[in-house]
Order: sequence, then C-alpha cells, then structure tokens
Amino acid sequence: MAECLFCEIAAGRIPAAVLRETDRAVAFRDISPQAPTHFLVIPRRHIVSLADVAEGAEGELEPLLGHLLRVAAEVARAEGLQDFRLVSNVGASAGQSVFHLHLHVLGGRPLEWPPG
Ligand code: AMP
Repeated sequence: MAECLFCEIAAGRIPAAVLRETDRAVAFRDISPQAPTHFLVIPRRHIVSLADVAEGAEGELEPLLGHLLRVAAEVARAEGLQDFRLVSNVGASAGQSVFHLHLHVLGGRPLEWPPG
C-alpha cells in the first residue's frame, strides 16, 4: 500500500511527530490539531476503517483493537490529559479523509457534545 499515507508514516518513510511506537501501533500528533492536544493512533497493519473490522470474519483483530485503545489511553495520560475524546471517523460522510484506521484523541479544551 505504497500510496497509503499512514502506512508510510508507520514505516517511517514519511516523517511525523511520533509519540509512541509499539510492534503493532504508532501514535503521532495530528498535523492539523483541532484541540491543544490532538494525536492519532494507528495500527501498523493496513485496515481501512472500523467498518472493515465489522464486515470481515476477523475476530483476530480484537486484540489489535484493544491494543490501540490501550496505547491511546497511555499516551493521553503521558500527555497530561485527564479528560479527552476518542473518535474514529468511518467513511467520507462521517469525516474520514485518510482511509487507514485511526483513532483521534483530542483534549486540552472543553469539547462540545454532540459534535457538529
Ligand atoms: P480523518 O479525517 O478522520 O480521516 O482524519 C485524518 C487526520 O489525519 C486529519 O485530522 C489530518 O489532519 C491528519 N493528517 C493528515 N495528514 C497527516 C500527516 N502527514 N501527519 C499527521 N496527521 C495527518
């Protein structure tokens, strides 16, 4: 998937402000932050979105998804966030613009609910 931006970031071929790397995941700062702290957590493995997880017969992905959540929580804590929002946009009409699964973690300011 040479054309996938987040695969390239995961492989280190495109630079990013990396906060945490594990064998299965990378957390890095969003290039266009929507809050004082805004980072993304991605799997190294190319998965288009959470819809792929639901559609596939891939129960094997459950540990990976749990790992992504753990990395998100650990990096949020390391960033000093007590309150934060975790979002994953699925599909273009929901705001997804990069088609490699990612969790947004936003914090450091009050966050409205429901989102716009
Ligand atoms: P989404 O719109 O949910 O697919 O989120 C994609 C996110 O990736 C957006 O918040 C972008 O600002 C962010 N983004 C795009 N390119 C980069 C990059 N090179 N490094 C870090 N974040 C990026």
